[in-house]
Amino acid sequence: MKVLLWITMIAATVYGVINFTRGVWVLGSLEFAYAAFSFVIYRIIDSTPRVQRWILAYLVPLLLLITYALYLPNTSDTMFSWILITPVILYLLLGSRVGKWFSIAFVTINIIVYQLRFFTGDYTSLHNAGIYNVLISSITITVFAHLYERNREKTEARLIELAGTDPLTGLPNRMKLTDDFDYVRAQADRRDSPVAVAMIDLDHFKGINDRYGHGVGDRALVHAAEIIRNGTREVDLNARLGGEEFTLVMPNASAGEGKEIVDRLRQTFLDTPMPVGNNTVTLTFSAGISEYNVDGVDLETLIMVADRRLYIAKNSGRNRVEDHG
Ligand code: GH3
Ligand code: MG
Ligand code: MG
Repeated sequence: MKVLLWITMIAATVYGVINFTRGVWVLGSLEFAYAAFSFVIYRIIDSTPRVQRWILAYLVPLLLLITYALYLPNTSDTMFSWILITPVILYLLLGSRVGKWFSIAFVTINIIVYQLRFFTGDYTSLHNAGIYNVLISSITITVFAHLYERNREKTEARLIELAGTDPLTGLPNRMKLTDDFDYVRAQADRRDSPVAVAMIDLDHFKGINDRYGHGVGDRALVHAAEIIRNGTREVDLNARLGGEEFTLVMPNASAGEGKEIVDRLRQTFLDTPMPVGNNTVTLTFSAGISEYNVDGVDLETLIMVADRRLYIAKNSGRNRVEDHG
C-alpha cells in the first residue's frame, strides 16, 4: 500500500504539472489535490486502526479521477492503460470478494466512457479495433487478477490452518488456541460470563509406549483426541499442547461446571477402551481446572494454575479432576 501511495504521489504530481502547462486546469488541480491527499494517507496508514476505510478513501477518488480524465476530450487515448492496471490494484488492495465488484463496475463504466469518446461508428475501421483490444485485454486482466487472488487467498487460508493444527491428532495447537482465546475472552468480558480452562494429562502414558511401542502410543493420542473432540461442545476450544497434554477452554462455564464437563469426559475415556491387537487398553487422564477472572486473566496464567491442580490430581491417585488448590 505504501509503495502504491508513493507511486500515486509522484504520478499525480507529474500529471498535475503536465496538465497545468497544457492549460487543463481542473484536472491538473484535482491531481495536485490527490497527490496531497495520498501524502496524508501515507502518514497515517501505519497507525490507523481503520486501514480498510482509508484504502477505500484512497481508491474511490482515484477511480473517479481516472474516469473523469478518460472522459475529458483533451486527454491522451493512451489513458486506456489505466483501465488495464486498475483491476490488479483493486484485487490487491480489496481482496477477491470486494475487489471483484469494484473491478467489474470500474472496467464496465470506463470501457463505455472510452468507447463514447473514441468510437467513430465505423465497425470495420482499424482505429476502432483499438477499442476491441482494450475491451478484451481488460476483461482478460480482470479474470486473471480474480483467479490469481482467489487462489492466493485459498492457499493462505490453508497455510494458516496447517500452522495452527497438530499434525498427529488434527487438534488445534497452542498457537491457534492462544489466538482463539482472545475472542473467547472478549466475549466473556462483554457478557460478563465465566470461562473455565482445563489441563488434561494422560496417566502413565510412558507405560503404553514402553509396553506396546511408539506407534500404539501415537494411536492412543489420536484416540484420546477423538474422545476430547467429540465429547466437548461446539463453543469449547480444544488443543493438544504437546506430548500427551491437552487443553480445554470452556466458555460460559465456571470452574465447578468445567469440572463436571471434564468428569464426563473422564467417564467417556473409561467407557471407550482402545483396541490393541486382540486386547483393549483403557486410557485415563488427570486434569486440573482454573477459571478466568478468578485465577488469572491471561491464558498462560490460567494454564499454569490448571497445571498446578493437575499435579494435585496426579498426586491424589490419578484418573481424577481437581478444581481447587
Ligand atoms: P503421568 O501419569 O505422571 O503423567 O505419567 P506419564 O508416563 O504419562 O508422564 P511422562 O510425562 O513421564 O510421560 C509422557 C510420555 O509421553 C513421554 C513421551 O515419550 C510420551 N510422548 C510425548 N509425545 C509423544 C508422541 O507424540 N507420541 C508418543 N507415542 N509418545 C509421546
Ligand atoms: Mg505430561
Ligand atoms: Mg502423563
